[in-house]
Amino acid sequence: MTILNILTLPDKRLKTIADPVVSFDADLKKLTKDMLETMYDAPGIGLAATQVDVHKQVVVIDISEDKNNPICLINPKIVEKNGLQTHEEGCLSVPNIYAKVKRASSIVVEAQNETGENITIVADELLAVCIQHELDHLKGIVFLDHLSVMIASYRSPAG
Ligand code: ZN
Repeated sequence: MTILNILTLPDKRLKTIADPVVSFDADLKKLTKDMLETMYDAPGIGLAATQVDVHKQVVVIDISEDKNNPICLINPKIVEKNGLQTHEEGCLSVPNIYAKVKRASSIVVEAQNETGENITIVADELLAVCIQHELDHLKGIVFLDHLSVMIASYRSPAG
């Protein structure tokens, strides 16, 4: 396994929109293993392929205390969102900055696993936060982008 280099702001490659995965091959398995290793090493609870400069729709997550419950999401889509929660977030691509972000409190995600099987995940609390944060990366969005929207909304139209 390999520890991959994690891109950090203001690297413009973090703005890249990821392409869907079409072949569930050995390269994909190696990528997910390397991403998990990189995430555990960092250490972090989630990592999107975008952050390691691979622009495919691949996300790994493990919110367990013992780091023994990895989730791999390929081509993930949020198909249902409910409620709102505010959680303090950080990001391996934005070192040492933490900020409260408002997101859906529960979500339903459809994705494939690393062998191409369809999976559905119902998530709430931290897992829901983490999935929404990582899926944003695949669209070229980092969590600070949510804050600039909030700050902008406080400006007067004339100002
Ligand atoms: Zn992040």
